Amino acid sequence: MKFIASACLMWLLLMGAAASGPELLEPHKVAEGVYAFIGALEDVSAANGGNVINSGFIIGDDGVIVIDTGVNFRHGEKIHAAIKSKTDKPVVLVLNTHPHPENVLGDSVFSKLGVRVAATPATVQAMKQRCEVCYKHVNGILGEAAMAGTEIVIPEQLDERATLRQQAIEVGGRKVRLLHYGWGHTEGDLAVLDVKTGVLFAGGLVSLDRIPVMMQAKVKPWIAALEQLRKLPIKILVPGHGPVARPKRINDTLNYLRDLLKSIEKQYRAGDSVFDALRHTEMPAYRNWALYPATHLLNVQHVYSELERAEFQGSVK
Ligand SMILES: [Zn+2]
Repeated sequence: MKFIASACLMWLLLMGAAASGPELLEPHKVAEGVYAFIGALEDVSAANGGNVINSGFIIGDDGVIVIDTGVNFRHGEKIHAAIKSKTDKPVVLVLNTHPHPENVLGDSVFSKLGVRVAATPATVQAMKQRCEVCYKHVNGILGEAAMAGTEIVIPEQLDERATLRQQAIEVGGRKVRLLHYGWGHTEGDLAVLDVKTGVLFAGGLVSLDRIPVMMQAKVKPWIAALEQLRKLPIKILVPGHGPVARPKRINDTLNYLRDLLKSIEKQYRAGDSVFDALRHTEMPAYRNWALYPATHLLNVQHVYSELERAEFQGSVK
C-alpha cells in the first residue's frame, strides 16, 4: 500500500515536472557516434525551463562521454534518457566545460550513478566559490519545483599537465583532446575535440547568433584562446550556444570580441568615460544576434572595466 502511494506520488511529481519544462531533449546527430543538444538562444527563464545551452555526448567503443549536463536534475535526466535512446553503453565520464549553472547543475544525475565528473582546476575552484549563489539565482528564476533533486557536485580536477592541451586521452574507447587555453568566457573554459570525427565541443568559448555573455570573461585571453582553437583540425563546430556549424564560424565570436575591444579601447584612450562608452555602444553587425542590446550593453561596461583595471594594476607595481 505504501509502495502504491509512493508510486502514485512519484507519478504525480513526474507529470508536474513534465508540464513545466521541455518534454524531451532531442539529440542531434553531428557525426558518427557524436550527438548534440541545442538550447534556446535565450537567457534562463521559466518559459524555456533553463534549456539555453548546447551540450552533447560522444559514444566510444566501451562507454559514453557527456559534455555538460544542463541547468537542473531534470535537465540531466533528460540528457541521460536521450543517451539511453541511442546506446546501451554506460556513461563513463562527464566533462563540465565551465562553471555556469546552466552547464553543470545536472551533474548529480550522473554522479549518483558513480560516473566520474571532471573539469579544469579553475572550474572546480569557481564552482566551490560561486555555485551556491548561482544555484539560488537559477532557483529564483525557475522555481523550487523545477529545481527538485538538483544538487551541486564539485567535479574532480583534470590534471592540467597530463591532459590539457597535450596528447589525446582515451576514455570509453574514444580519443578526445581536452583543451584549456586559460581565462576566456570564464576562468575554467574547456573545449573537447573528438579526434575520430573532428567534432569540437567549444563550450562557452564560442557563441553563435547570440551575444557572448562576458560577466566572468577576460576579453584579451578569450581572443587568444579562439585564435588557438582555429588552428585545430576541426571538422564540425558545436558552439556553447547556437547552431552546429562549420569551424570557420569560430570567427563570428572572435570578430565580435575584437570589434568590441577595439571600440572600447578607442573610447578609453580618447578619455571617454564609461557613461560615454555606454552611449555609443552600437555595433550594427551584431544587432540581429540574440540578447542584443541588453547583454551587449553589459559587455561594453565589462570591457571598459577590464581596461581600467589593467591600467590601474599596471601603475601600482
Ligand atoms: Zn557560460
